[in-house]
Amino acid sequence: MLISKQKPLEEIMEYIEGEKKVFLVGCKGCAEGWESGGEREILEMKKKLEEKGKIVTGHVVVDMLCDKALSAIKLKNFKKKIDEADSLIVFTDGAGVQVVAELVKKMVHPGCNTISSGGAHAEWKGAERCMECGNCVLEYTGGLCPIARCSKHILNGPCGGSQYGKCEVDETIPCVWHLIYERLKEIGRLDKMEMFVAPKDWSLSLIAGPPVKRF
Ligand code: SF4
Repeated sequence: MLISKQKPLEEIMEYIEGEKKVFLVGCKGCAEGWESGGEREILEMKKKLEEKGKIVTGHVVVDMLCDKALSAIKLKNFKKKIDEADSLIVFTDGAGVQVVAELVKKMVHPGCNTISSGGAHAEWKGAERCMECGNCVLEYTGGLCPIARCSKHILNGPCGGSQYGKCEVDETIPCVWHLIYERLKEIGRLDKMEMFVAPKDWSLSLIAGPPVKRF
C-alpha cells in the first residue's frame, strides 16, 4: 500500500502544455483507497481537463496498476484510444506510473505525488521502484525513477562516472540516467532532460542514502 495524492491541476496542465489529447489511467488499489486515482477521481479529472479544452480519448482504471502483467492486458484493450492520445496521465503512486511507462511508447505524465508511508511496498516484484519522495519527478525522467534507481539520487542527469551504460558505484546495475536518455530519445522528448529539477525536500522521502535493493 502506497499513499498517493493528486498533484495540483496547474502542475498537470503545465505537463500537458502543447498537447491536445490525453488518455487517463487510474488504479483500483491504493489510489482508489486514497481517493487520488479511482474511477470517481478519474471521471472528475476528465471533466476538469475537458473544461480546459483538452480531449480525453479514453480512460481505464486497472485493479492493481503496479502489477505489470495485469496492466499490460488492460492497456492492450485500450490500444486504439491510447494511440489517438498525445500522452497518458497516470493517477497513482510512482510504481504504477513506471509500469505504464514501460508498457507504452509515449509520454507518461505522473498525476500524483507519492507520500512516505514509512516503508510500504508496491507489487513490483524483485525491485523497489518508488521511494515515496513526496514530489514525483517522473515527468522529467521518462518515467524512470532516479531516486529509487540512481545510487547517488541525482536529479539532473548522469554523474559522469558511468561507463558503457553501467553505474559507477555498482557496475552490475544499469546507470538509470543512461536508461532515461534512451527512453526520452525513443519517445522524442529529450527536451525533458534540459529542464532543471530543483533540489528536493528530502524530509518527505522514505529514505536517504544508496538504494538497498538492486535489480
Ligand atoms: S520520483 Fe520516484 S520516489 Fe518520488 S514519488 Fe516518483 S517514483 Fe516515487
